[in-house]
Amino acid sequence: MDNQKTISKEVVLSGIGLHTGCMTKMVLKPAPLNYGIRFVRIDLPENPIIPAVHTNVLGVVRGTTIGLNNNTTVYTVEHLLSALYGLGIDNLEIRVDNNEPPVFDGSSKTFVEQILSAGIVEQKQERIYFILKEPVRYEQEGTEIIAYPADDLKITCEITYDHPLISRQEITMSINPENFINEISSARTFCFDYEIESLKKKGLAKGGGLHNSIVIGMDRVHNKEKMRFENEFVRHKLLDLLGDLYLLGRPLKAHITAKRSGHRHNINFVKKLSRLTKNRQLEIEEIKDNIPHRDPMLMIDRVLIVEELKSAIGYKHMTGKEDFFKGHFPGNPIVPGVLIVEALAQTACVLVLARPDLGGKFPYFLSIQNVKFRKPVYPGSILELRINVVHARERAGKVESKAYVDGEVVTECDFGYIVVDGQKR
Ligand code: ZN
Repeated sequence: MDNQKTISKEVVLSGIGLHTGCMTKMVLKPAPLNYGIRFVRIDLPENPIIPAVHTNVLGVVRGTTIGLNNNTTVYTVEHLLSALYGLGIDNLEIRVDNNEPPVFDGSSKTFVEQILSAGIVEQKQERIYFILKEPVRYEQEGTEIIAYPADDLKITCEITYDHPLISRQEITMSINPENFINEISSARTFCFDYEIESLKKKGLAKGGGLHNSIVIGMDRVHNKEKMRFENEFVRHKLLDLLGDLYLLGRPLKAHITAKRSGHRHNINFVKKLSRLTKNRQLEIEEIKDNIPHRDPMLMIDRVLIVEELKSAIGYKHMTGKEDFFKGHFPGNPIVPGVLIVEALAQTACVLVLARPDLGGKFPYFLSIQNVKFRKPVYPGSILELRINVVHARERAGKVESKAYVDGEVVTECDFGYIVVDGQKR
């Protein structure tokens, strides 16, 4: 079994960010099953949570920036995400008190060392991989990235620069913790000396220097430290690509070949891949495109379509900030059971309304049977909402469903639904 993993204890790191030059203290915290990778900006009011997923990408210039809006961002997430993907970490909370993780030596080495020294633990449920039905090809402006169906993740990366110190480099690597640690994690970022002034003018590379980037001149590398690998440049490109690929929100089984990759193309490719993979995963904004529910009644964060029109898994993080906890109950907050039933029904809605002819319609409950509330659900829990369509006619159907927390059933029920045209009042 290939189970989900998190870290065994907290890791505290601090340092300067590559582009902003800001000092950031970062705490990596163990997270529950199905939490995913999320950043928390603890310096901002209400401590906003930013899931590390492609729908939150806000910037791709010389690094990948994610955020909820222009005031709630985290810059240059790729070296940390690459370390997490390389080490096989599925669930992690990353608390930052500023807007960019520390760059350290310009590679993923420090993240890897610190995570390994804290330890990695298996959790009690399997990983769910993105699996491809057929090859997915992305081609633009001389960049080509292709994903072929495969049993594991393997990456072939190729770069070509019109510069004698780089010229053409290529590497193929099976991605597993051993290869990542030994062959990829210590490859440093790089830039050309003539670019530095214009980067700084654009407000980038403010924290950059010879201690955290390889700086390439006309005929020599300016750093005193010698190259860590003869083809360190292409190894770092692979490191970046792996970090960007993790913004799919799940690990991937594929053989990827990438020629002249870079953050903008990587993210475009991830977005294309996310639409075409067999186990399509919808993030919050995509869910809103599919169902009419909105805050405070939107009860799901992400949905994985396991089989079209047949089965799906929804996820909802009960953060503790939800309004109902104030009154249900004062001093003893638990999630109202009926809202768990609602969350199960909304997961079914996403599945049913994904059918093109039902887009824009409204789903209503027809009946609910066999409801059992088996365990209370507390703030901080991740609800896993598994639904199975028993039968579906044109506009109505019947569903079996179970909600889990930490691998144990908390609620189950069967329900009937009907899909109707919206009514204006
Ligand atoms: Zn990089």
